[in-house]
Amino acid sequence: MALPELESAPVAARTQNCSDGGRRPLAIVLFGSPGSGKGTQSKFLVRWLGIPQISTGDMLREHVRNGTAIGTSIAARMKAGELVPDRLVNELVFERLSRPDCERGFILDGYPRTPEQAAEMKRALGASGTTEVVIHLLVDYNVIIARMAGRRVCPKCGTLYNAISNRPAKEGVCDLDGETLVVREDDRPEVVRARLNEYEALTRPVIDFFRRSGVKMFEENASDYTPQEIFEKIRVDLADLTERGLTELVGK
Ligand code: AMP
Repeated sequence: MALPELESAPVAARTQNCSDGGRRPLAIVLFGSPGSGKGTQSKFLVRWLGIPQISTGDMLREHVRNGTAIGTSIAARMKAGELVPDRLVNELVFERLSRPDCERGFILDGYPRTPEQAAEMKRALGASGTTEVVIHLLVDYNVIIARMAGRRVCPKCGTLYNAISNRPAKEGVCDLDGETLVVREDDRPEVVRARLNEYEALTRPVIDFFRRSGVKMFEENASDYTPQEIFEKIRVDLADLTERGLTELVGK
């Protein structure tokens, strides 16, 4: 997808020579309903901070695409827009977080999605001394339904495009590999409604969990601004961490 040019090198790259010795990893949790722009903001953050995006949706879709045992067991639920079991997602996430590229920090996109996942995450991240910060993207549901109607995906590489905010250079064709873009199974309007219902019933309570557990959380209006404008707000939210903390947190 087309990302705006950043004026400066990623923060992590700029802080690599710091000698403060701090090594606490940073977990940025991007939280919000389906279609709130978590994936887009994750990509901006990856570019800025040089830490990886962990998208549970992408990981699960890859299993389905590759026809693994996990993929076969969850395909029907995913197609219907329902959440897959907590235990499975937790295992996939923690295996992923144990890899070396997550040592300095990571961006969680689409996880945690239930209070049970949130509790498990808090326990695991607490044990590893990770600092958590939640960015909550708030979007009007009518905006989401309109956005997702215009969303297209590359069936080969998984890149997302949008008729309004992120068009491919050539209509209906992936910029990266020339593949014909398709509507994602779970972006069909009736499935979007099911996903929003799941979000209300199962995922929204995670906000209360975050509030109760005192996790640092920023809320951003993601309805009325462009993705770039929202990213600038997130940069401001994280400025305190980037100036004071990211040097310690993600710097080497
Ligand atoms: P996403 O791309 O994040 O919207 O996720 C697509 C689908 O993957 C969801 O509708 C769920 O079926 C499944 N999924 C993704 N993340 C989770 C999660 N943390 N817990 C349970 N199911 C998930």
